[in-house]
Amino acid sequence: MELWVTEQQNENVNFSCRVKKTLYAEKSEFQDIAILETEYFGKMLILDGVIQTTTFDEFIYHEMIVHVPMFTHPNPKSVLVIGGGDGGSMREVIKHSSVEKAQWVDIDGRVIEACKNYLPEWNHTLKDSSVVSLKIEDGIKHMREAQGLYDVIIVDCSDPVGPGEQLFTYDFYKEIYGALKEDGLFVQQTESPFYHQDLIRRIQKDVNALYPITRLYTANIPTYPSGLHCFTIGSKKYDPMMPSPDRVPDFETRCYSTETHKASFQVPKYVSKLLK
Ligand code: SAM
Repeated sequence: MELWVTEQQNENVNFSCRVKKTLYAEKSEFQDIAILETEYFGKMLILDGVIQTTTFDEFIYHEMIVHVPMFTHPNPKSVLVIGGGDGGSMREVIKHSSVEKAQWVDIDGRVIEACKNYLPEWNHTLKDSSVVSLKIEDGIKHMREAQGLYDVIIVDCSDPVGPGEQLFTYDFYKEIYGALKEDGLFVQQTESPFYHQDLIRRIQKDVNALYPITRLYTANIPTYPSGLHCFTIGSKKYDPMMPSPDRVPDFETRCYSTETHKASFQVPKYVSKLLK
């Protein structure tokens, strides 16, 4: 019998692919967790029916969400990742030798455990790291208690439904502002410029009201809705359109480069009109 998995991307659009086998499935306190082996995209993490990451294209998402803000800051020492239960973002953070403290906060310990067991190729480098510290906690609670602690905050959250909903609000961006140092910056994955235009407009407005610099950049990620994905940065001092002078990767990358960094902010007109 043929097995297919289908993600409903909106009420009129589905995305399906053929499945080899189910590696793991569980209903946690917060969400339905599934890890599948697919024919074309390799392993796939799905939360509440929504594709989070796949072997095929996870490197694009994780390198772009992490290295754009990290190479904007001249010397990121203290970094926070909210969400990112698969470990891909934290894996990229600790490639920066400047990092002394890498705090990781995810609401769901079951996602972390499942990804540790079934996606070790994403996150095996984390277990030997002396800088990573993991807390199983709501990102909103963590942010309220953190004041002036972080150079860079990476919000690698699920969609704005379920446990991730409150991570897309003005109040949360305000808490992030308080948790950043005086020259800090944050990034958040902010969905598709085709399917989530109202959300992107609202986020731009909210971040812009709080931060001196608000920027949006994009990356092509084939397994995300519409294939084009947005990221929003709020920055207190450094303009992310330019990587910090003299900071270039001294580690292997498959997607990120200084040129890709700069180009990712050159968005087409149909995207830039969402920023007005
Ligand atoms: N790259 C992904 C995407 O764009 O779909 C996000 C991947 S990551 C697996 C999402 C993580 O956010 C999950 O591990 C989930 O448990 C976590 N999460 C959701 N809401 C959260 C919250 N309020 N605080 C902390 N983590 C949260």
